Amino acid sequence: SRAQAMEVTASPTVTYDDIGGIDDQIREVREAVEDPLENPEQFEAVGVEPPSGVLLHGPPGTGKTMLAKAVANESDATFIKMAGSELVRKFIGEGARLVRDLFELAAEREPAVIFIDEIDAVAAKRTDSKTSGDAEVQRTMMQLLSEMDGFDDRGEVRIMAATNRFDMLDEAILRPGRFDRLIEVPEPAAEGRERILEIHTRDMNVADDVDLGAVAQNLDGYSGADIASLATEAGMFAIRDGRTEVTQADFEQAREKLRDADTEDEQVIN
Ligand code: ATP
Repeated sequence: SRAQAMEVTASPTVTYDDIGGIDDQIREVREAVEDPLENPEQFEAVGVEPPSGVLLHGPPGTGKTMLAKAVANESDATFIKMAGSELVRKFIGEGARLVRDLFELAAEREPAVIFIDEIDAVAAKRTDSKTSGDAEVQRTMMQLLSEMDGFDDRGEVRIMAATNRFDMLDEAILRPGRFDRLIEVPEPAAEGRERILEIHTRDMNVADDVDLGAVAQNLDGYSGADIASLATEAGMFAIRDGRTEVTQADFEQAREKLRDADTEDEQVIN
């Protein structure tokens, strides 16, 4: 049903403190989303338009959804999430209808943050194939653009989207007045990984000998989501061993386990 396609949270619980390694991105999102929601008069007084839409792009599991939830939370706004894949519907007009409902709901619940995850599902560059499915996706995208173009009168509603496939996007959605603020959320470097590890172990009983910086050094290529799994796995090793403290060895074992699982995945694909 339509209601099920959208995830509405009156006030998400994620805060900026829960997000590690992307402080610059947090700052940019606050400026583009939180400030206009909280001080619309100031933008009006100065005479500048806040960005229409904010597009977060970067690899999977780096904190894009968290960032959108956190800015909604910290701005006391309703968070309304929809997956782009949910907008790709079977029946003609259904996707466009959902887009209209999405913006209508946001207007009812303002202040609100609309978040469209996997926006590439509806906004990919047009391919040469002229199947009817493509035409329907195109119609859904046109509806999205038209909602964004009529955005000025919508009051305290901010729109955000995310993609792992920035290169696939149709340039039409990146024009001024649409997703005109691009924020890249990259894979974390060693320092960011350490911060993310600190966040995901802050409620864990970690032994004094554990050096999270050293653990983080060895996690090249890990996303935030991978690091969250690593912390849980390390805790599981302690539990299996009947201990209440998580040791450096547990983190090492967790890393080996995840690495082996990863290699198996690749073998399946190859
Ligand atoms: P996708 O592109 O796959 O939708 P995403 O970038 O939206 O991914 P999130 O859904 O925000 O990623 O992150 C998934 C989980 O990974 C989070 O719930 C959190 O546990 C962890 N995580 C990811 N990035 C971070 C981060 N920067 N700091 C702390 N935790 C993180």
